[in-house]
Amino acid sequence: MTASNAMNQLTSFTVPQSRADITEDEIEAVAQTLRSGWLTSGPAVRKFEKAFSDYLGGKAHTTATNSATLGLTTALKALGIGPGDEVITTTNTFTATALAIYHLGATPVLVDIDHTLCIDPNRIEAAITSRTRAIIPVHLGGLACDMDAIHDIASRKGLLVIEDAAHALPTSSRGEMVGAGRSAATVFSFYATKSITTGEGGMITCPDPALAERMKRLRLHGINSDAFNRLNGNSWLYDVTEDGFKANMTDISASLGLVQLAKLEKMWQRREKVAERYYEGLKGLPLTMPAKPLPNDRHAWHLFMVQLQPEARIHRNEFISLMAGLGVQCSVHYVPLHRHTLWKKVLDFDVREFPVAEKAFSRSVSLPIFSSMTDSEVNTVIEATRSLLQ
Ligand SMILES: *Cc1c(COP(=O)(O)O)cnc(C)c1O
Repeated sequence: MTASNAMNQLTSFTVPQSRADITEDEIEAVAQTLRSGWLTSGPAVRKFEKAFSDYLGGKAHTTATNSATLGLTTALKALGIGPGDEVITTTNTFTATALAIYHLGATPVLVDIDHTLCIDPNRIEAAITSRTRAIIPVHLGGLACDMDAIHDIASRKGLLVIEDAAHALPTSSRGEMVGAGRSAATVFSFYATKSITTGEGGMITCPDPALAERMKRLRLHGINSDAFNRLNGNSWLYDVTEDGFKANMTDISASLGLVQLAKLEKMWQRREKVAERYYEGLKGLPLTMPAKPLPNDRHAWHLFMVQLQPEARIHRNEFISLMAGLGVQCSVHYVPLHRHTLWKKVLDFDVREFPVAEKAFSRSVSLPIFSSMTDSEVNTVIEATRSLLQ
């Protein structure tokens, strides 16, 4: 049985929302790491960090973590964010973006989106107070936010920019790869559904080598050197210099990530092909198609989010259950943060601050898109959608 046959059995859907693209190469790489005897952060993590930096052009300093959530927390802490600080982000994101801020004792400040489904740069300035320290834009679905506008506000107001790039590999913006070094820090996710996976994992990139060193300490309890250095330097002595996290990546994950990263361009090409077929195959239906990237920019196509227009005369929830009946697993990205019990309880906002996100949420549907998607799976999605909307 191949790896992908085994995984098909995990879902009852003909076409799942996503499926990790794992082959015997990944399995062999992980097996080799297990045989090597070095399981936690060691040579494979170093190699993965170097390969990731090379992929982005070689200038970014990279710090591998066990998740993007703790990657964001580590990056924010390294940049000095803490109690009393406010950090602006979008309401249309996964709860992890806001949790990373909240766990440091800082306050997430939610801002509405624009038609791209990313944070509306025109609404950022109104959310800035004397406590605001940073902005975390989220490249939703893999489409780059308007980084020129965001950096312009940040530099005028003296704010840091930390990019949540969980969806944005490989995304480029204004001719530069996301994560290559424009912002103070950028964080990628290698969760099972993301464009490359290490099972669980993340990567922080930043232009400042001293900051990267601090992140490397913070990801391992705040100890001044990692276990690999200690054992290889034959030294038992270590010093705890700050209150860090347990956020290091294992060599098991990194060896998986190295194989995935080598395939990233090919996997991305397939995602783009799937997106092209959706634009073509869904023409003429009462759907708002995803915003396209600017010329020369690259959309990672982590998600393919359409919106049902009022003329579709079908509620989004009903559409998703009918699609499920036809074997296609759809999703919604996201239930905006301002709708969740936790954030309603601990943050101070009025739902009327988010008219665009409210409207997008009520109509939004994410169609399946993943690199191991076959032509016949793409056709199944197109035919199911046409049968419900034509
Ligand atoms: C997946 C995701 C995260 C968290 O990533 P983990 O690696 O699972 O911690 C953060 N932000 C966004 C937008 C995500 O989609």
